[in-house]
Amino acid sequence: MSAKKANLSGELKKYFGFSTFKGQQEQIIENLLEGKDIFVLMPTGGGKSLCYQLPALISEGTAIVVSPLIALMKNQVDAVNGLSSDDGVAHVLNSSLNKTQTKQVFDDIKNGKTKLLYVAPESLIKEEYLDFLKEVKISFFAIDEAHCISEWGHDFRPEYRNLKQIIDKIANVPVIALTATATPKVQDDIQKTLGMTNALVFKESFNRPNLYYEVRPKINIDKEIVKFINQKKGKSGIVYCLSRRKVEEFAQLLQVNGINALPYHAGLDQKIRVANQDKFLMEEVDVIVATIAFGMGIDKPDVRFVIHYDFPKSLESYYQETGRAGRDGGEGYCLAFYDPKDIEKLEKFLAQKPVSEREIGLQLLNEVVGYAETSMSRRQYILYYFGENFDPINGDGAKMCDNSSNPPKLHEATKDLKKVLELIKDTGEKFKAKDLISVISGKESAVTKSYKLEQSTYFGFGKEQKDNYWKTILRQATVQNFLQKDIETYGVLKIIENGKDILEGKFKDKFFIAEDREFDLSQAK
Ligand code: ADP
Repeated sequence: MSAKKANLSGELKKYFGFSTFKGQQEQIIENLLEGKDIFVLMPTGGGKSLCYQLPALISEGTAIVVSPLIALMKNQVDAVNGLSSDDGVAHVLNSSLNKTQTKQVFDDIKNGKTKLLYVAPESLIKEEYLDFLKEVKISFFAIDEAHCISEWGHDFRPEYRNLKQIIDKIANVPVIALTATATPKVQDDIQKTLGMTNALVFKESFNRPNLYYEVRPKINIDKEIVKFINQKKGKSGIVYCLSRRKVEEFAQLLQVNGINALPYHAGLDQKIRVANQDKFLMEEVDVIVATIAFGMGIDKPDVRFVIHYDFPKSLESYYQETGRAGRDGGEGYCLAFYDPKDIEKLEKFLAQKPVSEREIGLQLLNEVVGYAETSMSRRQYILYYFGENFDPINGDGAKMCDNSSNPPKLHEATKDLKKVLELIKDTGEKFKAKDLISVISGKESAVTKSYKLEQSTYFGFGKEQKDNYWKTILRQATVQNFLQKDIETYGVLKIIENGKDILEGKFKDKFFIAEDREFDLSQAK
């Protein structure tokens, strides 16, 4: 293997035609070839596929690539086969194959021709496949879109849950898991479920310094968007709406206002849908109004704006959707319209779901609300969500959001934060923000009653201030390393670094909060 390792750049050039590796690709591949388990967290477009395709091509045996979507698998197989003069280098294995085709795949694997075998997790459990795969040489497993393992990811697939047992049955070989979802909760889930807590973790920054983030209250939204798009005349953009009906209505509204726009959603006739997408890609149309069905696999480098007519269900989705702007490194304006009433609607929708799904959905919505209402750097907020510390003054792209380019007023809240930290410490670090707010503002709840918190000296100490003030303190203290949300319970607040220093009198700075913007939309419509 070492000879191969030494010449990785040569292999890169030979198969892919690239002269240099992107980001950490080379280290990832080297370590995989040395037999280590690897976990890759890289934003979309970072170059994840190459991290398993190249080592698969140069290793003995076949690499099994687990991937959730048949359509994506087919694209990948075609792409890999295009890299080599041989057609059987990559195959898909699934139940759509007839007997002859399956035999061909099996033969190609046995003959050492097939280097990459793409399978969906549900195919892997099929006895016939399992029995065969146990008998042949497997180089390693690649788990693509590994966030599908976690209920906290945006695309949970129950079939991914049992992957570890299946892998163990087939072969004892290295595993490389890859995802563009990097929230600490999802990362933790993936590593535990795949039994790879000792894996080498390669994480690339999720910062997109060329994207500008802005949130506006949802007032006169139609006019606002028309005005915005007119200022970007002739540039490509996407407007995301929650419902198909809204997509159609709004596309029409834009057309009536002289904007070259078309709709896209899963309910449209296939032909129209594809035609609309192609027109957007070919620049015959400037704006696509779409549901979230639009975007997967779309690689248009010069999308100049992404507007959210309705707020997304999680920050993760927001990041993915806005990530389609400015891929070429040029301008990318991300504008979202926020109305707390929309969030209430989403909450009501969640109320009909099973308990665990509802709990998770509500937590994710909480983060979204935090993002919408915060007055701190939006980039810092998003990156914190992905487990990254971002310097809002000197970081790359620091000025690129509404709050940073037009900073809100600051308010010193060191004393109030100290009081909150004392409360958290004295109550044993076991409550979530919502319950702490109940104590601070002196409002009884099921939790305050069951822990008899009404009798505590802290009960109601902050009732002179609005709940929102305390929410802001808790939220910003979390982002500024005073508090941390526990991963297991996803929400219980624990005191960390700066928080401990304050309690021990060692914190010499002051704690400032940006006064959160009020989203009082009573004047709307
Ligand atoms: P991801 O799966 O992380 O979204 P892809 O694997 O689709 O990313 O890669 C994104 C793009 O980057 C592709 O067009 C790919 O060809 C390109 N790419 C990957 N590695 C390199 C490299 N070393 N040099 C140049 N381009 C690369």
